[in-house]
Amino acid sequence: MIAQPQASHFIDGDYAEDAAGAEIAVIYPATGEVIARLHEATPALIDRALASAARAQTAWAATRPVDRARILRRAADIIRDRGAALARLETLDTGKPIQETQVADWPSGADALEYFAGLAPTVVGETIPLGRDFVYTLREPLGVCVGIGAWNYPSQIACWKAAPALSLGNAMVFKPSEVTPLGALQLAEILVEAGLPAGLFNVVQGRGAVGAALVTDPRVAKVSLTGSVPTGRRVYAAAAEGMRHVTMELGGKSPLIIFDDASVEDAVGAAMLANFYSAGQVCSNGTRVFVQKGIKDRFLARLADRTAAITLGDPMDPATQMGPLVSAVHLDKVMGYIAGAKAEGARLVTGGDRAKLNAGFYVQPTVFADVTDDMTLAREEVFGPVMAVLDFDTEDEVIARANATEYGLAAGVFTADLVRGHRVIGQVQAGTCWVNAYNLTPVEVPFGGVKASGVGRENGHAAVQHYTQVKSVYVGMGPVDAPY
Ligand code: NDP
Repeated sequence: MIAQPQASHFIDGDYAEDAAGAEIAVIYPATGEVIARLHEATPALIDRALASAARAQTAWAATRPVDRARILRRAADIIRDRGAALARLETLDTGKPIQETQVADWPSGADALEYFAGLAPTVVGETIPLGRDFVYTLREPLGVCVGIGAWNYPSQIACWKAAPALSLGNAMVFKPSEVTPLGALQLAEILVEAGLPAGLFNVVQGRGAVGAALVTDPRVAKVSLTGSVPTGRRVYAAAAEGMRHVTMELGGKSPLIIFDDASVEDAVGAAMLANFYSAGQVCSNGTRVFVQKGIKDRFLARLADRTAAITLGDPMDPATQMGPLVSAVHLDKVMGYIAGAKAEGARLVTGGDRAKLNAGFYVQPTVFADVTDDMTLAREEVFGPVMAVLDFDTEDEVIARANATEYGLAAGVFTADLVRGHRVIGQVQAGTCWVNAYNLTPVEVPFGGVKASGVGRENGHAAVQHYTQVKSVYVGMGPVDAPY
C-alpha cells in the first residue's frame, strides 16, 4: 500500500474515516497493483461535510477578499515547493507519465489558486444613478458549492473548482472520481496548512451515489461537475430540482481542421498533442482530425513516423511519453472502439493493439485514416489514444461536418491563411478554440463547451459569474411617493 492516505475523507479541517462505507481499492494503472484502500462516505459523513461547510462559509464570506487571497497564494506556494512528491502521487493515481504530471497537473492547479487569489479582490459591484435615488450592486458568494471530478486530471480539476469558489467567499465539498481519489485529499491538507479555516474545503469519497446525495442536499447552492455527457444530464436535472447553479464541463468530439497550406510538422505535432497527451484521456481532444486532401499523404506519412516513435513505458521514468489508461474497465472500452473502427472499415495506419507492459492498462498510440462521418469512431468519445483522420475538400464542407455533432467543447484550425483561420473558427460551434495551436488551456482563458458539452465556464474572468450572484440594492433618498 504505497499511497495509503491517513484516512479516506477530509472533513472540517481534518481526516475522517468510517469503515462502514463500501471499500474503494485504488489501483496503479501501470502495474494493476492496489496502492491504497479507501471507504465510500456514509450518509453521516456526507452530512458532517455539508454541515461544516455551511457553518464555515458564513464567517468566510464576511472576510476581506485580500485575506482570503493570501491563504490561496500560500497554498499555491506549498504546491510548487512539493511539486516532485505531488507529481509522483498524481502518476500513481492516474498512470500518467511523470513528464506530464510534473508540468501540467498540479502546476496548473497552483496557477488557478494564484490567479483567483489575484482576481477575487478586484471583483466589485456597480452604482446605478437614478436621479434622486440610486442603486448599488454587490457580487455575493453563492454559499456551499459541490465539486464533482472526473479521473483524468483529478488534482487540476479539484484546484480549478476550489480556487474560484474559495477566493470568492464560498465553501466547497468535493467528491473526486472513485478511480482517482488521492489528489483532492492532498489539496485539502495543503489548504488547511496554508491557513484555510476548517470546513471550507471538504473531500468525501464515493461513487455516483455519493455525488447524487450531495447534488440534492438543500444546503447546496451550486454544483460544478467535470464528467461525461450522460452524467452531466443526470446531475444537471437533479440540480435543477433545487434551482441550483451549475457549471457542467462535459465531453467532446472536437474537430481539428488542417488546411493544405498548413505546416505539416506543426499540424502533425498538434494532432498528436490533441490525441495522445495523457494517453488521449483529455476532454478537449481534437479527435476528429479533418485533413484537406492536398496535404493528406504528407500528413499521414509524417504522423505515422512520429507516432511509432512515441515511448510507452513506466510512467515514473522521465523518458516515458505515454503511460497506461486509467483502469482495466476503460482499457476494455477503448479496445472495443478500436475493434469497432476496424470492423467498420477505417484504415489502420499505426498501433491498434494493446501494449503488453507489466500488468498495466496500455494501448498503443493508434491512428485510423479514411474515417467517415458515420463511423462510430467519428461520433463517440473514445477517451483513449485513438486518432481518427478524415478527408475534406472545401472550407464550407468541413465547417458543416465539424458542426454535425451534439458536442461543442473545443475546435482547432491549422492554416497559413490567418483570415481563413479566423473565418472558420467564427463559424465552428465550440466553446474553446485554437488557431495554429491545440489544447493549451492557461488559467487566464475561459474554458468550457457549448451544446451538449456543457454550461458555464471555468477559469478566466468568466468564472467569477459562476461562483457569485448579484444583489441589487435600491436606495431611496427622499420621501416615499405612495398613491394611497
Ligand atoms: P463520469 O461522468 O463517469 O463521472 C464524473 C464524476 O461524476 C465522477 O466523480 C462520478 O463518480 C460522478 N458521478 C457519476 N454519477 C453521478 C450522479 N448520478 N450524481 C453525481 N455524481 C455522479 O466521467 P469520468 O470520470 O468517466 O470522466 C471522463 C469524462 O469526463 C469524459 O466524458 C470527459 O470528456 C469528461 N471530462 C470533461 C472535462 C471538461 O472540462 N469539459 C475535463 C475532463 C473530463 P464515479 O466516477 O465515482 O462514479
